[in-house]
Amino acid sequence: MNSPLALLGGEPVIRQPGPHFSWPPITEQSKKAVVEQLGENISIYDRSGVVAELEDALADYFGVKHAVSMSSGTAALHAAYAASIIEPGDEVIVPAYTFFATATPLLHLGAIPVLADSDETGNISVTEVARKITPNTVAIVATHMWGIPANVPALRALANEHHLVLLEDGSHAHGASLDGQKVGGFGRAAAFSMNGPKPLSAGEGGFVLTNDDEVYYRTLMFGHYNKRCRSEIPSGHELHRFAVTGMGLKFRIHPLAAAFALDQLAHLDEYLAGRAEIAKLMCDELREVPGVSVPQLPNKHQASWYGLPLAYVPDELDGLPVERFHQALLAEGLKEVDRPGSTCPLNQLPLFQCPAALFPQQREFAAIHYQPGDFPVAEVVHQHTLKLPVWHREEDVPLARAYVDGIKKVALHHHDLKG
Ligand SMILES: *Cc1c(COP(=O)(O)O)cnc(C)c1O
Repeated sequence: MNSPLALLGGEPVIRQPGPHFSWPPITEQSKKAVVEQLGENISIYDRSGVVAELEDALADYFGVKHAVSMSSGTAALHAAYAASIIEPGDEVIVPAYTFFATATPLLHLGAIPVLADSDETGNISVTEVARKITPNTVAIVATHMWGIPANVPALRALANEHHLVLLEDGSHAHGASLDGQKVGGFGRAAAFSMNGPKPLSAGEGGFVLTNDDEVYYRTLMFGHYNKRCRSEIPSGHELHRFAVTGMGLKFRIHPLAAAFALDQLAHLDEYLAGRAEIAKLMCDELREVPGVSVPQLPNKHQASWYGLPLAYVPDELDGLPVERFHQALLAEGLKEVDRPGSTCPLNQLPLFQCPAALFPQQREFAAIHYQPGDFPVAEVVHQHTLKLPVWHREEDVPLARAYVDGIKKVALHHHDLKG
C-alpha cells in the first residue's frame, strides 16, 4: 500500500498473471451432462427430452407458467416483441443504456425504439420513461443493468396507468429479485440471454418467460415451427393451422447447450449466494474509499452481480481523469477492471444515429437520429463505470481483497498521477 504506484515504477499489488476470473464454472458434472446428451439426442424438434427438462426447471425457478428456450438472448427478445404483437410504427420505450440487442429486434419489426435516459444507478429512469410516452407508445422495456433490479414496480404502475405492455430484458439478472419476487415475472413477457458470461450460461442460448398463453403460442410461432407448434398449440386455437410453418423462422436452442444450462441452473442459487457474499465484502471495503462509489440496493433487493459496477467520482480525486485512474489500476495488476465498451448509451452507436442507412425499407426510420449528448445521465454513468468481476468461491476471497487493495492504493496515491 505504501509502495509507489506501479504505473510510476512501483510494485504492483497483484503479480498473479491473468485471467483472474472465468465464467461459467465448468465442473466434471457439467462435462458429464453434455457428453451424456451427445449419446441421447443432438436435435430436438418438439418439447421433449432435455429441452422440456430445461424449460420446466426454468419455469419452476422463475415461478412463471411458460419458459421457451431459444438460440440466443437476441432471438428471445425478438420473439417476445413479436409475440407481444408490436407492430410497424409502434413506439417502444427502451433504456438508452443497455446492450443494443434490447432495442435492435424492434427495428426488424418496423417498430420505433424510443430511448429513455437512465438515473444515477444506470437503470432506466421512471420519470424519463413517463416523459417519453406518446399516443403511439405501446410498450416499456426494462433491463436490469449488471444484475441490479430496475424499478419494475414503478414501471408496472406507469404501464398500467397508460395501458402499455411491460417487458423485461433479464439478460444480466438471472435470479435477481425485489422483495422476494424474481425479475422476469413482472411484465407480460421477459427475455433472457444465456450467452457465455451471463449469470446463467448455456454457452449460447436464451429463453422467454411468460404467464400468458397467447404470448406463449406466438413465441412458439416465431421460432419453433412444426412439431412443437402442433403439439403445444391446442387444435381448436386459431393459430394451430399455421403450425407447420409458424412464422417461418427457426431459433431453437442446441440440445448440448440446453444440457449444459440445465446443469448450471441446478447450481445457480449457490453461485449467486457466493457472489452476494463477495460483493458485500467488496462494497463494505470500498464504501469509504474516495474516488469510487458502490451500488446502493434498496432493502430486500437482491442483485445477480453479473458485475460490480463502481461509479468513478473524479471530484473526490482532484479531477483525475477516469482513463488515468483505470490505467493505474491495470498497472497494479487489476486486469479484470473493465470500462464496458459495446454495452453503452445506444445514442453513441451509428445504428441508432442513422438506422435508415441499414433499413432503407423502413421509411419511418428516417426520423430517427440519436446523437451523442442526448442522454446526459446515461452518458456520464457509462463514462465513469468501472466494472469488476464478482467471484463466487470462498477461495477467491483473497483475490477480491487484492482488487480492493489495488483500488485503495491508487486512490491514496492519486496526487502522484497529476500532471
Ligand atoms: C447479452 C445480452 C443480450 C443478447 O443476448 P445474446 O444471447 O448474446 O443474443 C441482450 N440484452 C442484454 C442486456 C444482454 O446483456
